[in-house]
Amino acid sequence: MKKSIAIVGAGFSGAVIANQLAHAGYTVEVFETRPHVAGNCHSERDAETGVMLHVYGPHIFHTDNERAWEFVNRFSEFKPYVNRVKAITNDRVYTLPINLLTINQFFGKTFRPAEAQAFLAELGDKTIENPLTFEDQALRFVGRELYEAFFKTYTIKQWGLSPSELPASILKRLPVRFNYDDNYFNHKYQGMPVDGYTTLVEKMFEVPGISVHLSTPFDPASKADYEHVFYAGPIDAWFRHTEGRLPYRTLDFEVFRDQGDYQGNAVVNYCDNAEPYTRITEHKHFSPWEQHEGTIMYKEYSRQCEENDIPYYPIRLARDKAQLERYVNIARDEANVTFVGRLGTYRYLDMDVTIHEALNTADKFLACASDKTKMPAFVVDPLG
Ligand code: UDP
Repeated sequence: MKKSIAIVGAGFSGAVIANQLAHAGYTVEVFETRPHVAGNCHSERDAETGVMLHVYGPHIFHTDNERAWEFVNRFSEFKPYVNRVKAITNDRVYTLPINLLTINQFFGKTFRPAEAQAFLAELGDKTIENPLTFEDQALRFVGRELYEAFFKTYTIKQWGLSPSELPASILKRLPVRFNYDDNYFNHKYQGMPVDGYTTLVEKMFEVPGISVHLSTPFDPASKADYEHVFYAGPIDAWFRHTEGRLPYRTLDFEVFRDQGDYQGNAVVNYCDNAEPYTRITEHKHFSPWEQHEGTIMYKEYSRQCEENDIPYYPIRLARDKAQLERYVNIARDEANVTFVGRLGTYRYLDMDVTIHEALNTADKFLACASDKTKMPAFVVDPLG
């Protein structure tokens, strides 16, 4: 009898691969430890307020990738949503990402774009030629005052580390703009699935040949029962942490409710030490086309991920690279297993990148099956 494919993890990586392989005629068994699909993107209606809740924190879909955008739109209508973040620092409210209004309000100026650009160029530390750390990237491009007001303390709260230890890539996620555009993202497409992410992911699994087993861990020892395993769990857990635990940040959410409009915006960041949390998210504003009397908020706290916590952000410090390399090397020797997604490849991935990589992974598997070549352990190099 033809053996089936096992997929471990029912988040975006697992759902996309399951969908594509089932359409190609494979039988697919999906194993998910949690009682729901969609991983950390899981959304459900709050019973008290009726608001669509981003259960594991806010997820805003944004992409430049045509294929990923076209793909997700097959499973859900997307409503336009533009993320506009407000930031509180030193008892004042500003807009993020840093834009002309932020600069003018912060410095009490009335600069036009070219003036603001020249002003920040003056403030930037030009002795830093090739910024490698978060701190150097900030000091080089926005200067010390903006860095300390918006990034330094927030980043210490978020990562538990000094920005001088973190890579510049984390700050490069945020644009700096010399106009009044306060859209948090630069991408061509941005939106929210009208019935939430979980409904969208459930639709991806609705293909004959896919069985989803919720609340069901997968034992790596049973991989021989399958033709191939796609593993979207934490790479170190597959190997029972033989090389030690890869570090992650986890999040705690303090949930509270109110009536009406609590903060007037979906996301408000708290960039200084006046509050111990990083941000407050008011979930009704992620679905601006809906009307609800009540409102539900999360105060978001970040801390080191311990053994029984849910991993969120991989902490990829240069000094921990050797440990990751050891896992990647033993993973490359595993037969018939491909490691995918944020946890399987230990990278800080946005949803669209995860989806695009999963589509490529399914393509690669089908190409290898037709050429009778070996499917690699990684379709994207986790060390790259
Ligand atoms: N960041 C910051 N201040 C802010 C927002 C972000 O210092 O007000 C830094 C912080 O280090 C964060 C990184 O920029 O981890 C990336 O921010 P992003 O909003 O992309 O984080 P996410 O929404 O993925 O947690």
